[in-house]
Amino acid sequence: MKVLISADMEGTCGVSSWVHVTPPEGAGGEPSNQTEYERGRLRMTREVNAAIEGALAGGATEVIVNDSHDGMRNLIGEELHPDCRYTSGNDKPLGMMQGVDIDGIGAVFYTGYHARAGTPNAPLAHTWTGWLNDVRFDGVSTGEFGINAAIAGHFGVPVILVTGDDQAVAQTQEFLGQQVAGVAVKQGISSTAALHLHPAKAQSLIREAAERAVRNERSATPYVLQAGVTIELDFDHQARADQAVLAQSVERAGVRTIAFKPADGLAFCKQLRTVMKLASIRMTP
Ligand SMILES: [Zn+2]
Repeated sequence: MKVLISADMEGTCGVSSWVHVTPPEGAGGEPSNQTEYERGRLRMTREVNAAIEGALAGGATEVIVNDSHDGMRNLIGEELHPDCRYTSGNDKPLGMMQGVDIDGIGAVFYTGYHARAGTPNAPLAHTWTGWLNDVRFDGVSTGEFGINAAIAGHFGVPVILVTGDDQAVAQTQEFLGQQVAGVAVKQGISSTAALHLHPAKAQSLIREAAERAVRNERSATPYVLQAGVTIELDFDHQARADQAVLAQSVERAGVRTIAFKPADGLAFCKQLRTVMKLASIRMTP
């Protein structure tokens, strides 16, 4: 069995501020500090390595890593475990799940994941971007952990491990089930503060959990998005909804809310990426 690692950055041990995760050319207008960012991406790469080591020890035949943060060019190739392949770069059809359709992929790990938008006292909590206030599946609020599980589920692939801050882990397990192994590498204090484990300790816990998760992989079930489920998105401004409803089969569901009913997980991915592109307008003309 091959494992896909969807590697985000905000949930990395030692990371608690946007300055740790914003590359020099980063989107969103966050302040960037080269030294802090370089530290953040090294920690991210080391946590991914711990997950790779665990996966291989647990019997995975190959590990593919998908850089899933910001412009998706954060992992330091030379520092990565030599027995992996990795994706870098943006505008991938499956986004944070790019690679899940590769033949033989049987499980997904989430590393460096963060809590969903609107979570109190969770470092760097958001969903996809700073201007998406909520995503709901039939009224149930979810985050990137839910969006990506629905895409993986379309390809019959379950999520078996999540690492990140305590609330990212708890929300993922609440949404997907307690059979998903979790490693909380830090406890949230505020939106920009956390109580961290030592990075080396976090990495050893990730290694152990990854090995166990691969050994227990048969007990995992994919999250399959059923046809007819209503997806709702709340934006921060009505102007974004004005544009998002230009996509086919997308309806207005509120002043700042749109809704659509995808046929399956892949249609969901395509519609979501389309409406997010439409809604990503400049708010200051
Ligand atoms: Zn990110």
